[in-house]
Amino acid sequence: MKPDGSKMEKIVSLCKRRGIVFPSSEIYGGLNSCYDYGPLGAELKRKVKNFWWQSMTQVHSNIVGLDSSILMHPKIWEASGHISNFTDPLVDCKKCKSRFRQDHLQSDTCPNCGAKDFTEARNFNLMFKTFMGPVENQGNEIFLRPETAQGIYVNYQNVLQSYRQKVPFGIAQIGKAFRNEITPGNFIFRTREFEQMEMQYFIHPSQDDESITRWKEIRFAWYEKLGISKENLRLHKHEGNELAHYAKEAYDIEYQFPFGWSELEGIHNRTDFDLQRHQKYSGKNLQYFDEQSKEKYIPYIIETSAGCDRSILCILSEAYTEEEDRVLMKFAPFIAPIQVAIMPLVKKDGLPDIADDLSKTLRKRHSIFRDDSGSIGRRYRRQDEVGTPFCITIDYESKEDHCVTLRERDSMEQIRIRIDDLENHLQEKLEFPLD
Ligand code: ATP
Repeated sequence: MKPDGSKMEKIVSLCKRRGIVFPSSEIYGGLNSCYDYGPLGAELKRKVKNFWWQSMTQVHSNIVGLDSSILMHPKIWEASGHISNFTDPLVDCKKCKSRFRQDHLQSDTCPNCGAKDFTEARNFNLMFKTFMGPVENQGNEIFLRPETAQGIYVNYQNVLQSYRQKVPFGIAQIGKAFRNEITPGNFIFRTREFEQMEMQYFIHPSQDDESITRWKEIRFAWYEKLGISKENLRLHKHEGNELAHYAKEAYDIEYQFPFGWSELEGIHNRTDFDLQRHQKYSGKNLQYFDEQSKEKYIPYIIETSAGCDRSILCILSEAYTEEEDRVLMKFAPFIAPIQVAIMPLVKKDGLPDIADDLSKTLRKRHSIFRDDSGSIGRRYRRQDEVGTPFCITIDYESKEDHCVTLRERDSMEQIRIRIDDLENHLQEKLEFPLD
């Protein structure tokens, strides 16, 4: 598949028009690369995060959750290597003054003006800096976290002791991260404020090969469960100097976005690098004691680090479909922002009352939308465009036979179903595919 810029434009425009993603601070002219999730986007994102959370913590009895703070002790970033290593090479075009990440340039020519005159590359630290308290001096400098992972490492012993975990065990966390990217772009793909869904799995060092292989498979399968086709997913192994300073082995799960193959999630064998460094910088003993073997060691860590916003962009790209006379979003039903639209054929003769009763029952488990106006065909199209998998129409016959018409988004197939059977029928189709 060739990169398709027009598809991105259509997705961005649909997102704005239908309340999925808005440019941030729009009435003030926007803020470069910052976005807000609208009513439907917030719902979609929440479902994706819930699915990730349950897939990690509920399905694996040895993985627990954490919600650590964004602001942390500045020494953490010294220990992690972020202060000295978390840099990108920045170059400026001397002619048009555009700024680029040197490692993202395809050639020695400026993509903006065509000149071949760049400044020397300077290393630019990506961490956002601010000050704690009223005095703005170096001693009060503090950073917005550029990843959620460090919050997990510094809590590893708290979790171990309070939750009585034994290696192997994992800690999962969803939260905001901030990176002062040189060239953000491609809509919500690369932004300066974003959300990560990270899981750190603590293992005996001898288990690292087996564990990274297992997590690669589990995480790849997670995207397939989200409805992403296999042809649009691939694993990329990091070789040589692609490997981050902390990694022994690393893979990216990549997706074929409309602008080309790009990273969705990183899976890294971080060895004992992080815990060793935190042990050294904090002066606290972070060894694990295995009561059975009596061995003391620093666990290795296998990390699965996914970007929530990138998952959303991947889901939007995969779902966007144009058919002859309609545009539809083929979201997997269980993450669709609206799961069931309830439509009385007319606004009178008791049909809205049946719709009210049905809404009351179904909204306990699913995201419901009531649409009482316009022709049925137009109402269906409006729901197709925001990816609602099921529409229920209540007509005059419903009063007699206690049945409704259930219309499925992708096939447009319509079946007649008893109102009493609806709840079970939908539940089966809308629950998270956890295993
Ligand atoms: P890239 O090479 O694209 O800059 P990275 O290798 O630096 O990404 P990681 O540090 O491995 O990314 O971060 C883990 C995940 O966090 C990424 O796979 C991605 O999904 C997400 N992520 C990282 N940076 C951003 C960003 N600026 N905007 C949105 N998501 C991001």
